[in-house]
Amino acid sequence: MEALLKADIDEFKTHFLGEVVLPDDANYDEVRQIWNAMIDRKPTLIARCTSPEDVVQAIQFGRTQNLLISIRGGGHNIAGNAVCDDGLMIDLSLMKGVHVDLTTRRASVEPGCTLNEFDEVVQEHGLATPLGINSTTGVAGLTLGGGFGWLSRKYGMTVDNLLSAEVVTADGS
Ligand SMILES: Cc1cc2nc3c(=O)[nH]c(=O)nc-3n(C[C@H](O)[C@H](O)[C@H](O)COP(=O)(O)OP(=O)(O)OC[C@H]3O[C@@H](n4cnc5c(N)ncnc54)[C@H](O)[C@@H]3O)c2cc1C
Repeated sequence: MEALLKADIDEFKTHFLGEVVLPDDANYDEVRQIWNAMIDRKPTLIARCTSPEDVVQAIQFGRTQNLLISIRGGGHNIAGNAVCDDGLMIDLSLMKGVHVDLTTRRASVEPGCTLNEFDEVVQEHGLATPLGINSTTGVAGLTLGGGFGWLSRKYGMTVDNLLSAEVVTADGS
């Protein structure tokens, strides 16, 4: 399969603007590592996205190649669902943008942001939203699971405070 993929990987790289990491690359072990150090899975290819367009490209590549796909946000899922064996790991951890709209007091956050990275930006404006207790957890994965933390008794779960999301669907649209 890897020989088959070689030409396809080169083709993929012409559309994908993020970083493609392969098993022979020097940073492969570092990039595939997640919070639970007991997880030792080895994806065939890691696509480190830098934009929603990259995510679309990565999903479409995975579908075309019939690859098992895993998605990595902050990498804190204990079962290790962020990383797969012999498939495509879509790594969102480079996407760390946080934008605060002071008029509406709303923040938008990219899917690689961790709780402390989000807090650091919004707290400059005296703002906060319910997040988890461990600051290195990913905002995206935490929100997908509900999200319970210090502010939840007063303001609810993280997901209760989610107003909208830009979603790349499983068909890559
Ligand atoms: C030490 C520790 C402390 C924790 N403390 C809390 C806490 O206080 N409160 C709380 O509510 N939870 C807590 N959790 C649980 C944590 O919120 C979940 O494990 C959460 O899923 C981690 O999200 P992540 O993005 O860091 O992890 P990841 O492993 O990257 O992602 C978690 C899951 O969501 C999927 N996913 C991530 N991002 C996306 C995306 N953009 N699109 C689609 N799928 C995506 C991944 O594929 C994976 O299945 C804690 C976990 C740990 C290990």
